[in-house]
Amino acid sequence: MALNIPFHRVNWVNTVFLLIISLLAVVGAPIYLIAHDLSWQLWAMFSFYVIATGMSITLGYHRLFSHLSFKAKWPVRLFTLVFGSCAFENSVLNWASDHRRHHKHVDDDDDPYNIHNGFLWAHMGWILFKVNPEPPLDNVADLRKDKLVMWQHKFDKVIAGVVGLLLPAVVGFFLGGWTMALGGFLVVGALRVFVVQQSTFFINSLCHCVGKRPYSSRCSARDSFLMSLFTFGEGYHNYHHEFQHDYRNGVKPWNFDPTKWAIWTLTKLGLASNLRRVSQTRILLAEMAEARRHTENKLASLEASGAKICETTLKTVKEMQEKLTTAYHELEAQAAQRAEASRETIVRWRAETQNLLDRLSQLRPLPV
Ligand SMILES: [Zn+2]
Ligand SMILES: [Zn+2]
Repeated sequence: MALNIPFHRVNWVNTVFLLIISLLAVVGAPIYLIAHDLSWQLWAMFSFYVIATGMSITLGYHRLFSHLSFKAKWPVRLFTLVFGSCAFENSVLNWASDHRRHHKHVDDDDDPYNIHNGFLWAHMGWILFKVNPEPPLDNVADLRKDKLVMWQHKFDKVIAGVVGLLLPAVVGFFLGGWTMALGGFLVVGALRVFVVQQSTFFINSLCHCVGKRPYSSRCSARDSFLMSLFTFGEGYHNYHHEFQHDYRNGVKPWNFDPTKWAIWTLTKLGLASNLRRVSQTRILLAEMAEARRHTENKLASLEASGAKICETTLKTVKEMQEKLTTAYHELEAQAAQRAEASRETIVRWRAETQNLLDRLSQLRPLPV
């Protein structure tokens, strides 16, 4: 059966590049690693490049340039622009433009990586095909004012090739001749590009279909602790879509979010400032609103099904729902006055919200 691929729309530059990088990473690098022991210097360089490139995407491309969630001094901007290029994910101007459209039109036709077009489309497909007509870069006027951003936009491919692929090979050569030069190119270059790219791609695919939605089920974005481990904390995607300007993605103190820790550390070093945070009251209100939405939907679907349910549990759930609704409106009015709820209030209503959800999960149709 012939595959129905619109070849006239294939972006051959992106497709051939991704194909070559993937082959070098999943075939070339493993063969090299089996044939040669990788020296600790190359492992150190690999680790540095993974962190520098990965964090330049999460901290720089994403939270700094796309969402303006904090301000950074030029050394941070320059570093993340240079190493961001090394991920081969396009210039920050293009990346931020796509990403801002993703947030504005999430799950819609104008979302460049719309999950409703399928997992593979959201993951990589959207990069392999041209959009006709190409959307204009009309949502990044603020970034155009940054000279460093415009410099990177002009020389993105050169920086990527020289710093991302050539430099590791050159350093390898000086460490141990042609064998280590090949190791630098294959492992620190190709394998590292593949690893960082795939972790970014999984945010657009997996984090829009697997995981929980504690802050809002109005869009497909989900929170995934597992993904946060591989993406420097970007896995808390449900929170991020609800509060995109917060410099934190993992907002709870126990969430694994190295990018937020790095941003906080930069403020202590005087390299970042103006960190944007959503108030605890607003976050709690989002959780309460989602719990109320979930409760209403479940009660409506149980009622529509005509199934017999335990009257006592139903009565308890309805009472809890009513209590939560009253508290929600009080807190909302308080938040409108820009008054922050006390810590005790936040803790209490977060627990009550969870109690309602726990009790709701016990509400099942009784066996006939
Ligand atoms: Zn998303
Ligand atoms: Zn975002």
